[in-house]
Order: sequence, then structure tokens, then C-alpha cells
Amino acid sequence: MQAFKCERCGAPLNVSPETIVAICPYCGFPNHISGSLSTERIYIAPSLAKDDIYRAFMKRVEGDIDLRGLKDEIQVVEIEGHYVPYWTGSVYLTGEVRYMKRETECHTVTDSQGNTREECHTVERHYHEFIDRTLHLMGSARRQVTDFGISDMIKHYKKRPPKIEPLKELDEDRWQRIKLEILNTEMDEKQARMLMKEDAVDVVREEYKAKSDRIEYFRCKAEEPENMKLVLLPMWVVYYRYGNSIFKVAFSGWDGRDVAATEPMTTLRRAMYVGGVLVGILIGGIGAAGISSGAALIPLVAGAGIAYYSGSRVLAGTRIER
Ligand SMILES: [Zn+2]
Repeated sequence: MQAFKCERCGAPLNVSPETIVAICPYCGFPNHISGSLSTERIYIAPSLAKDDIYRAFMKRVEGDIDLRGLKDEIQVVEIEGHYVPYWTGSVYLTGEVRYMKRETECHTVTDSQGNTREECHTVERHYHEFIDRTLHLMGSARRQVTDFGISDMIKHYKKRPPKIEPLKELDEDRWQRIKLEILNTEMDEKQARMLMKEDAVDVVREEYKAKSDRIEYFRCKAEEPENMKLVLLPMWVVYYRYGNSIFKVAFSGWDGRDVAATEPMTTLRRAMYVGGVLVGILIGGIGAAGISSGAALIPLVAGAGIAYYSGSRVLAGTRIER
């Protein structure tokens, strides 16, 4: 097998037949290996240091009413940081929809005695709308979107986006200060574009499904995604021991916010949990259905609530406890 070397510093690179981009562990330079990918499109959100994450974890323990009482019995076992690759892009959509919605119509009627009453009945209303909008989408560039915390990071990104920098412009010193292991990108730009277009149309269709009783006509065309970026987001997982079990909390590495957690349950929580199990199974089922439909990119939409809603529905199934 051919030995790959970093284009910038000459260090040997770890490359497998699946590698799309090999980011040099020594200098941080992105080396294009295979598939469609322009390394100019790779961005990084620099991570906080391990100590910052440890402090964020302790703050979380102090601030959590259930965990605070267990503080002395909690022992941090490991703190692990990675950069996780995500694809982002914007998709412009045009189209046309006709749908029917049942609505209740009421009016006041006066009978022969002069008494008035309210009379209501259901009517089928028909709507005709045109689609003309842009969706911003984001999804994991890995095949296993169900990995702990990976989907939760997207929700957090939407709320508190980090400052990102082009990876190619990062110098070696800066890389040394912010470096973490980088999880492999398993989806190249071509695949990501294809998925994004499909998902954008799905998002719109679901939105109309949710607000109508019957879709009578649906035509929606997605243009080639624009502003494609492969963004490396830092994610940390703190593993801790409580009793005989290991639990974990995922933190976003750019601002130290906790994004997902598995947690020891106290008696009260346990009682609440039993009550919530049915709902949990239902949400889990919906989530699984969403995920099995392929490595779906999860919509990250500015200004389109429904699209975000359908994304968080997918997330709900991967969430362990929050
Ligand atoms: Zn290098």
C-alpha cells in the first residue's frame, strides 16, 4: 500500500481505503485522499481545553439538584475530546402544493322566536400555495448518526453557533493548542449534496403533511446546495462512576455546554421515569423510523419552525436522557 504523507509537513498519515480526507495529526493540514471534497470547504470550531471541560462538568454537578447530593460519590473516570465532522449547506426550493384542511366554521343563527345560537360544522378547505424558500441544513458526515451526543450537537449549534475558521489557514502552533483526535469523515461532498437535496424536499413535504388533512398535489424541486461546508465541531464526553455504573455527559467543545447525558436516577426520578416510559417508547419509535430512512441529514433551519421540529423528532430517539 502506498504511504501517504502530509502535503504541508511531510508527516506520515494514517489512511484506510475509506479515507476521504486525512487531517495531519502533527500540523492539522487537511490532505485530500479520495472522493469529492475540496479542502477549502473544511472549517473548524476551535475547542476549549480539557480543564475547561472538567470545570464545566463540576459546575453541572453543583447545579443539578439530583447530582449535587451525590457529588462526593461521583468520580470522573475519563474525559475524551474529538472533532466531529458535519456537513452544512443551504438548499433553495421551489414548487407548488395543493392541500385540503378540515376546519370548523361557526355562525350565529336566529330562529323564528328570535333566539340566537351558535351553529358549527366542519368544512373542507382547499389551499394552493407556492414554495419559494431556502433551507439551511446540517447533518453528521458520519454513518452512525446515533452515536452518543452527535445529533444533540446540531441542536446546540443552532442555538449557539461557534466561530469557525478555515482549517487550511490554521498554522501549526495554533493546531497544537486546539488539537484533538478527529473522527473520520465518511461522507464526501457529492453524497452530502445528494442527501441534502432529498432531505430538504422531505422537510417541506412533512411540513405540509403536518398542517393539512390531505395533500392533493405536491411538486418540489431542490436546487444544488450552496455554501457547502464541512465543519469540525469539538465534542467532549466526560465519563464518571457512580455506584457500580459508568455514566457520561457530552459537552460542546466551543462553549462548554452540556448537550446530552446519561445519569444515575434517584428514587424520585425513577418514579417519574416509570410514568414517562410509554411516552418514551412512542418517541423512540418515531425516532427510529426517522433514522432508518437512511443517514438523514438533520435540518437546521433558521426561521422555519416545522423543519426544526421534524429534526428534533429524529433527535428524540437518540437522546438517552436529558
Ligand atoms: Zn502535516
